[in-house]
Amino acid sequence: NARVRARDVVAKAAAGDYSDYGASTRFDELPLSQKTKDALRKAGYKEMSEIQRAALPHALCGHDVLGAAKTGSGKTLAFVIPVIEKLYREKWSQEDGVGCIILSPTNDLAGQIWEVVRKVGKHHNFSGGAIVKRTGIEQEKERINSLNILVCTPGRKQILVLDEADQILDKNFKSQVDIILSQIPKARQTLLFSATQTKSVKDLARVSLKNPEYISVHEQA
Ligand code: ADP
Ligand code: MG
Repeated sequence: NARVRARDVVAKAAAGDYSDYGASTRFDELPLSQKTKDALRKAGYKEMSEIQRAALPHALCGHDVLGAAKTGSGKTLAFVIPVIEKLYREKWSQEDGVGCIILSPTNDLAGQIWEVVRKVGKHHNFSGGAIVKRTGIEQEKERINSLNILVCTPGRKQILVLDEADQILDKNFKSQVDIILSQIPKARQTLLFSATQTKSVKDLARVSLKNPEYISVHEQA
C-alpha cells in the first residue's frame, strides 16, 4: 500500500539513495501521506518551488536542514510538510504532547505559519496553535516554561524549526530562545530556514545542528 511504499522510499533516501525521488517537481511525486497530498491539492499547491524541491527529500527522511532562499520562495511549506509527515508517521497523538516547536520572529508571522499548518494538516488530527504574546515578557516566560514542563518528554525525538533563523538567533531573542532550547531534547531533527545564511545562522552549536544539509537557492528575479 501507499504508506508502506512511501516508507521504503524514505528509508532508501535516508540511506543516501535518492533515485526514487528522481527529479520530482510536483508534490504528488513525493512519498507523502494521502491526507497531506489531498490537502496540498485542495490548497492549489502542485509544482514545488526550488527550495521545496531541494529541501523536502532531505527533511522528509529526517536530516537536519539549513536552507536559504529569498523571501517569497516558499520556505514555509519546506518545513510544514516534513513536520506534519513526521508526526503522522510517528502516530503522534494528543497524549504525546508537543512534537514540534516552530519559532518565528513576529506574532503576525507566527499566525501565518499556523494557518499554513492548519491548511496542510486539515485531514490530520493534530492540535496546536500560535502562541501570541499579548502580555509582558515575564508572563510569556512563565508560559513558555509551563508549556515545556507540561509537554516535553525528555529523550523523545522531536522536530525544531527556526523560521527567519537569522532574526530568531539574534541577540534580541537570546534569552527567550535560550529558555526554549534548554527545555527541548538535543536528540532531535532541526530545520532552519532564512532569507540569507548570516553569521548567526551559522551559529550551529547553539541549536545543536548535526551534519546539516546546506541548501542555498537564489532564483533569478
Ligand atoms: P518564504 O517563507 O520563503 O518567504 P512563503 O512560504 O511565505 O515564502 O511563500 C510565499 C508565497 O508563495 C505564499 O503565498 C505561498 O502560499 C506561495 N507558495 C509557496 N509554495 C508554493 C508552491 N509550491 N506553489 C504555489 N505557491 C506557493
Ligand atoms: Mg517565511
